[in-house]
Formats: sequence, C-alpha cells, structure tokens
Amino acid sequence: MKNIQMVDLHSQYLRIKDEVNQGMNEVLESSAFIGGPAVSKFSSELASYLKVKHVIPCANGTDALQIALMALGLKPGDEVITADFTFAATVEVIALLGLEPILVDVEASSYNIDPVALRKAITPKTKAIIPVHLFGQCAPMDEVLEIAKEFNLFVVEDTAQAIGAQYSHKDGSVSRAGTMGHFGTTSFFPSKNLGCYGDGGALFTNDDALADKARVVANHGMKVRYYHDEIGVNSRLDSLQAVVLGAKLKHLDSYVKARQSAADYYDKAFSNCEFLEIPSRVSYSNHVFHQYTLKTRGIDHFELQKYLMDKGVPAMIYYPVALHSQKAYTRPEYKEENFPVTNELCKSVISLPMHTELDLEQLEFITQAVLSYR
Ligand SMILES: *Cc1c(COP(=O)(O)O)cnc(C)c1O
Repeated sequence: MKNIQMVDLHSQYLRIKDEVNQGMNEVLESSAFIGGPAVSKFSSELASYLKVKHVIPCANGTDALQIALMALGLKPGDEVITADFTFAATVEVIALLGLEPILVDVEASSYNIDPVALRKAITPKTKAIIPVHLFGQCAPMDEVLEIAKEFNLFVVEDTAQAIGAQYSHKDGSVSRAGTMGHFGTTSFFPSKNLGCYGDGGALFTNDDALADKARVVANHGMKVRYYHDEIGVNSRLDSLQAVVLGAKLKHLDSYVKARQSAADYYDKAFSNCEFLEIPSRVSYSNHVFHQYTLKTRGIDHFELQKYLMDKGVPAMIYYPVALHSQKAYTRPEYKEENFPVTNELCKSVISLPMHTELDLEQLEFITQAVLSYR
C-alpha cells in the first residue's frame, strides 16, 4: 500500500506531469516569469469556469483578502464581521489594515457563519462581512447577502477552501463559491483543492470598477507606471505557477468527484460509529471536501489523533483554538456563551486524509484504523 498522507501531491503530479513539465519548460525558455501569457491565459480560463467577469491573480490567499479590503476603501476603525471558526488569515488581514475584526459564531449545520449571530453583531461601524466557505461547503449566502443589502455592507467571500463549490439560491439559480459577493478570494497553496507548486492566490469580482481598483492595489497602487495614486502592495502570481494551475483546472471537476467519493466511503464506514459524527451537509451547497472533518463524541480528539498517527494514519485538528480565544484576536466584550458551536467544534473535530489520489486499499486501512479505536 502507498504511504498514507493528508494530501498526496506527488501521485497527483505524476498524472499531469507531461503537461506541467512541458508548460514549465516553455516558461523557462521564454523568460516571461512574471505576468507572462501563462498568467493571463489561466486567469481567463478560471473566469469562464467560475462564470465570473474578472479574475485578478495575486501572490497568495492572504494577500487576496487584504487586496479586497483595500480595494473596498475601508478605513481604520471600520468593523468587519467574520466567522470565529476559520484559519487565522481571515482575521489577520482585517487587523493588519487597522480595521476591527468582529468574530461571530458559526452554524452547527455548516460550520459557517451564523446569520443570526451576524445580524446581532452589526453596529453603525460595520462595513463588511467575510463569510468563509469552510472545509469545502458554502456559507449560507442568501442570508448573508440579504443582511448585507439591508445594512449596506460589503461582502468578501473567503473561498480558499471551496473553489468550485456550487451554491443553490432560493430562487433556483446556482452560483460558484466566490462569485456572489463584491469580491471572492482564493488561495492556490499546494494543498488547496486547486493548488500550485508554490504560493498563489486570486480575487474574483463581477464589478468592473472594483476589479480595476484591485488590480491597482495589487500593483503598488499604480495605474500608470511610476504614478502612485494610492498606497498599494506588491502581489503577483508567477508564470510557472500559472502553468500548474492551468493544467489542474482542467481536472478540477474530476478532482472534486474523487474527493466526494472518498467522503462517501468514509460516510458509510462511520455512519453507525457511536464515537463519531459524519460531516453534515446543507441543502443549499454541494461539498467539495477540502477537508473531511468528523466530530468526535465522548472521546478526546487529540488521543484519537495520536492513536491514528501511531498506526500510520495522519489526522489533523482544524482548528483546536477558536479565534475569539486567541491572544492576538480576543476582545474584552466577547462572551463564551456567544460561541457555543465554535467552542464545541474546537473540542471535538478531527480531519482525516483527503485528496484526489486515495485508493480503496488506503480508505479501507484508514477506516479500519479509526474504527479499531474502540
Ligand atoms: C489557506 C487559507 C487562507 C490563506 O491562503 P494562503 O494562500 O496560505 O495565504 C485564507 N483563508 C482560509 C480559510 C484558508 O484556508
């Protein structure tokens, strides 16, 4: 049996090796390392895949969030509401820009921002909401967009874990994750569902003016070279990464299917297990399984993790500490009773290996190892 890893990038590479190597060689021969044709080709292919007007490539998913908040013209002191249960990058950029991150609890059904908690957190200073599509399932966007409209707030969707996921609106229409707010952002970190072989990221928007603004911000605040109308950053996707992304984008839907069938296998194995609860699914979104995350019941998730590691099965705890409890992001006004779902998730979740290359032998080994815990 092949060694079990959380993510098996090497086996995936072997299946696209010829295309990637040839594309990389072309870039090497052309010396167009930054902003070359590979970058614009990939950006427009991704735009058609997502059915979004603009894809603005940048250096990583954290930059994408920062560029979005800068392009929206938010000012120090403005409040930005986001989910308590996410990766720190989401709140980090809010704080870095001198904005006030306001964390709210998530829903038990989706592990994503709870619209009821969101509405309660709105103050006259609130300017934007960052819903995160965590683990590969969309946040309740109809509700988020409705609240945003009512209070005139910007929406930036953190799509780092859910590229390709589909949201079904109440009116029956369907949108790709990241294309419903003023901006969507994503990460092409190698282990993400669409990952490159280094760092990369992108912003999505259907708004021409916001797209222009984001391009200027990402390029040192320049529209015309050496004329800096505003303070920007330097954030670029390089051509070698764009080659990898272009090759992988063609397979993204089949990658999603491979993840979903691994998840189905796990679901069947664990559905009657008394110490585990399989990931819940919401009616309004499919699940692209960036992570397959179980909730444990009546056992210590760190002990299960250690038990699995000893058996050669990697497992991760995403995330062990709620952001509202982190030294960097806690606020005196936060009350524990306002974060019941996040607190419970942090105490109970465990994520199993999830990638496009899991075979039946590995899945059987992993599930047997988990079930043998008790
Ligand atoms: C990975 C991730 C990011 C940051 O992406 P980088 O490319 O690593 O900067 C942001 N938000 C979420 C939810 C992520 O999972």
